[in-house]
Amino acid sequence: MNIPFNKPYLTGKETHYIYQAVNSGKLSGNGMFTKKCQQFFQEKYGFRKCLLTTSCTDALEMAAMLLDIQPGDEVIMPSYTFVSTANAFVLRGARIVFADSSADNPNLNADRLEELITPRTKAIVPVHYAGIACDMDKIMALADKYGLFVVEDAAQAIDSYYKGRPLGGIGHLAAFSFHETKNIIAGEGGMLVVNDPRFEKRAEIIWEKGTNRTAFFRGEVDKYGWVDVGSSFLPSEVVAAFLYAQLEHLEQIQEKRCQLWKHYELALSPLAAAGKLRLPHIPEFATNNAHMFYVVCHSPAEQEALIAYLKERGVLAVFHYLSLHKSPFYTEKHDGRILPWSDFYSERLVRLPLYYELADDHLSTISREILSFFSTSDRI
Ligand SMILES: *Cc1c(COP(=O)(O)O)cnc(C)c1O
Repeated sequence: MNIPFNKPYLTGKETHYIYQAVNSGKLSGNGMFTKKCQQFFQEKYGFRKCLLTTSCTDALEMAAMLLDIQPGDEVIMPSYTFVSTANAFVLRGARIVFADSSADNPNLNADRLEELITPRTKAIVPVHYAGIACDMDKIMALADKYGLFVVEDAAQAIDSYYKGRPLGGIGHLAAFSFHETKNIIAGEGGMLVVNDPRFEKRAEIIWEKGTNRTAFFRGEVDKYGWVDVGSSFLPSEVVAAFLYAQLEHLEQIQEKRCQLWKHYELALSPLAAAGKLRLPHIPEFATNNAHMFYVVCHSPAEQEALIAYLKERGVLAVFHYLSLHKSPFYTEKHDGRILPWSDFYSERLVRLPLYYELADDHLSTISREILSFFSTSDRI
């Protein structure tokens, strides 16, 4: 048996739409499929303005440019996140102030945010880990109180909600990912969401290499030129065509993933009840978009042993982020605070295979192997 950690799902329509894009003779960005994808999100989730990007990393870099982050500005984000969340702001000279995770789940602890705010703080970047919402009311209230911007790293958070509001639609800006490991994919791809109208015009300019080309196409100016900084952030129509095929199947994909997720939860809940491991905690204010299923072990040694045990049996389960405040790149720059919960998840969390085509009997096998791991060894 060989069960991979992830397997990209194809709806079957991707190559058809790519063929259409190729035949249309318009292959560069901001064409028909790009507009269709952007409209999809604007209509389904009520996002004010969406711009497809070549990655979530790029969308985060655009956000840092839009917020005009300057050297010395401070940006607060969890230490337990992907490097791109931090890199986007470090590229503009920001100092990253890392927040610790919550005890309940890897999201940043919103109750401990205020103490990290200084006169230099410019933005907060909550990451909705595993597609589970951060406590956005608390975060937005602090942003209001201190005049800060909020950029949601919604890379994993497509089709997930906070108190009935779609994630990615709450902060001033938000970034999504369509990397092949996410729920909806384009190989590599992402999207910037602009919820604050103040950023709308400039976002288009930064997107189009610092030119007012988008306004030109709308007939608002009769020539386009260099009006600001920017870069090449828009993907080609080939990528957008692929993505559109996926979006058409969003509900079907989400339904299947949620079903698999619940199957895991049901199978492993006896272990959780016996205190052998912890399952994902979903706060009352959050929904579950089934981006990820993980378990939390009791010790780093147990994390390592479980991953090895499953690997020997042909199941690829993996750990996740290493705390960024302890990374080779940032440890010297970090202010020295100890972030125990971030380290806790780095050293204990194990992600299980979860993808559209994961067969039920494979899922049962994985669950059974985990049950046997915790019964053969006398682990607590
Ligand atoms: C996947 C991911 C990213 C990066 O997305 P790309 O599209 O690969 O650039 C950033 N942040 C988080 C939390 C992610 O999970």
